[in-house]
Amino acid sequence: MSQSIVLFGPPGAGKGTQAEAIVAATGKPQVSTGDMLRAALAAGTRLGIEAKKYMEAGELVPDNVIVGLIEERMTQSDAMDGVLFDGFPRTIPQAEALAEIAEVSLVISIEVPDDAIVERIVGRRMDPDTGDIYHITFKPAPSEIAGRLIQRKDDNEEAVRTRLSAYHNQTSPLAKWYSQKGVLATVNGNQAMSDVAAEIAEVITS
Ligand code: ADP
Ligand code: ADP
Repeated sequence: MSQSIVLFGPPGAGKGTQAEAIVAATGKPQVSTGDMLRAALAAGTRLGIEAKKYMEAGELVPDNVIVGLIEERMTQSDAMDGVLFDGFPRTIPQAEALAEIAEVSLVISIEVPDDAIVERIVGRRMDPDTGDIYHITFKPAPSEIAGRLIQRKDDNEEAVRTRLSAYHNQTSPLAKWYSQKGVLATVNGNQAMSDVAAEIAEVITS
């Protein structure tokens, strides 16, 4: 089985931000369930419409929907040598389903305390043309693209609180689960983006 990497951490930890360099270093394509769900929603598919209410409330989309998406994605040819999962798995049942379809050789957990998360999420902006991620304070966009930036509908304080409790209740137990399998590496996500990137680069090459 191919060797995949999981990027793990709370909402706003910096998974999407750090993914690009990991893709460049490993050649593995990024598989973000959040991006896939948003694409399904934008395309108006039944799956996207079903997922919408959970996403906007900040709750997890049911496991069977997510696992179905991943099973389909993993049949594509670019996934044969493993992928970089971003935002998946988020529950123990998802991790158990993943274990049947791909070998996870490394889980990179980006650790950020709750009190830093809300400011990161509420200030997050996205470039709809490129998918690039910015922040009003921590990573301002160049002025020529600033006008087209969008804010995700679930990037508000109320939904963030729900997402954080979903993370603590349903997702964070996975850290121990993967640690027991000997594949968990933790990095400090509560520092400058370049310092986080340097720690991740070390983990990947060691
Ligand atoms: P995730 O994919 O884990 O939800 P993102 O990569 O989208 O997180 O980052 C969330 C927000 O925080 C974005 O606006 C991003 O620019 C910002 N951000 C990411 N990493 C850092 C960091 N190390 N310090 C400050 N802000 C950061
Ligand atoms: P963030 O990293 O900022 O939390 P994502 O883009 O990963 O955001 O996810 C956005 C939303 O999509 C989540 O709040 C949840 O509703 C849904 N989602 C994404 N991935 C999963 C998953 N693996 N399991 C369940 N729901 C998911």
